[in-house]
Amino acid sequence: FFVVVEGGDGAGKTTQVEALAEWIRAKGHEVVVTREPGATPLGQRLRSILLDVSSGGLSHHAEALLYAADRAEHVNSVVRPALARGAVVISDRYIDSSVAYQGAGRELSATEVARISRWATGGLVPHLTVLLDISPETARERFTEAPDRLESEPGEFHQRVRAGFLALAAADPSRYLVIDAGQDPESVTTAARHRLDQMLPL
Ligand code: C5P
Ligand code: MG
Repeated sequence: FFVVVEGGDGAGKTTQVEALAEWIRAKGHEVVVTREPGATPLGQRLRSILLDVSSGGLSHHAEALLYAADRAEHVNSVVRPALARGAVVISDRYIDSSVAYQGAGRELSATEVARISRWATGGLVPHLTVLLDISPETARERFTEAPDRLESEPGEFHQRVRAGFLALAAADPSRYLVIDAGQDPESVTTAARHRLDQMLPL
């Protein structure tokens, strides 16, 4: 069973991934928590290139391909093997992040960005995508570290990213759960659990 948690920077994805993993483990399932970019040795190297503020000159197409390369390695060496042995996989970001950031944010074609990732992953689609929706202004107040290269983009960029995520969710409501991530973290977890309870193979 494959669950993805998506959303803008500062939406609280990491906190929710951990809370959901703990809850699913307590039900007796093996849970693999993972993330993009950076879950593999290649991914670690790509992550540092992608997030380094001094990589400012990276072209938008190169950026899209590097995220896709990270994803190809991630799916092949982490996600598919875990799913094959029956584990529940929870990933902090997946294809929708590319469609939202490189598609909507960078204004590349969403269709083409999605197509590259479909090719990179062999068409692996999550059973459920939990979208943590929050205004970029509220999210920014939660940053604890210096912003990375993408986080440093202007407010309009992050507004486009947010709209990109919401458009994906609106186009396929049965595969998405959109949660207002401006609420307290416990309420966000409760909403996600409620939906997962109906879906998880127990
Ligand atoms: O989620 P995390 O903060 O680890 O993501 C790292 C950075 O990569 C974030 O700043 C995020 O905005 C950016 N990102 C991106 N495109 C993706 C995935 C992540 O720009 N496809
Ligand atoms: Mg971040």
